[in-house]
Amino acid sequence: MSTNEPVNIIMIGMAGSGKTTLMQRINAYLHEQKKAPYVVNLDPAVSKLPFQANIDIRDTVDYKQVMKEYNLGPNGGILTSLNLFTTKLDQVISLVEKRAETTEYFLYDTPGQIEIFTWSASGAIITNTLAATYPTVVVYVVDTPRTASPATFMSNMMYACSILYKTQMPFLVAFNKTDVVGHEFAVEWMEDFEAFQRALRAQGEESFMNSLMHSMSLVLDEFYSHLRVVGVSAMTGQGLEGFFGKVDEAVREYHEEF
Ligand code: GDP
Ligand code: MG
Repeated sequence: MSTNEPVNIIMIGMAGSGKTTLMQRINAYLHEQKKAPYVVNLDPAVSKLPFQANIDIRDTVDYKQVMKEYNLGPNGGILTSLNLFTTKLDQVISLVEKRAETTEYFLYDTPGQIEIFTWSASGAIITNTLAATYPTVVVYVVDTPRTASPATFMSNMMYACSILYKTQMPFLVAFNKTDVVGHEFAVEWMEDFEAFQRALRAQGEESFMNSLMHSMSLVLDEFYSHLRVVGVSAMTGQGLEGFFGKVDEAVREYHEEF
């Protein structure tokens, strides 16, 4: 295993979960604590980037122009922009490879709307191409305060689970916004099935929904048992050391497996 091989980090998560803000915070952290990362923005529709990107999809495609030209709505515009960009992925890879000697982490921000990246051919091509170059960790960013109800928590975790099985890559769930709400409740629900059941029951009387969720949480138990999680705040920077600890652990484990 080569220890100085760089690592790709791909940020994925629901719109508003804090991917871009976390990128900014990680970027600043690496500049201060380690080596400067190499940063790639894959969101064509972001209006203001809070960090300096080395490669920016917006330099190649104008998503508003794409909308007009192909007569598309916003989501179609973003998806088509991503497709157009993907045709030039080889150029991105060759730029990235030139930095491999001097860079420890390559960071990739993805479009706000998660499904545009996770359920598109381009998203899969980008992810798989990156994974073929260097060890790649998919970071699933969660809006912790907005996932504090058991039902929302479970649907968010089902989504995370589907992405893990789809990508089959080293995976880390980053519970973000812990400056607002700590992620201890999430860890408890993942480690202790009974605790989750109690939270469900506290939500109201037994209903069809609750019994469905009961069965689903049994399924998720298997997923949780292998899951790597960390709490962070993109706002304050808390948890970033732990974040990189888990990223490196994910890479190590991956190396040991193959
Ligand atoms: P993205 O769509 O996933 O890229 O999300 P953004 O990074 O654009 O963040 C969405 C909103 O959440 C913004 O208003 C951010 O300021 C806010 N936000 C992001 N991270 C944090 C955090 O750690 N704590 C708090 N309090 N707000 C955050
Ligand atoms: Mg964003």
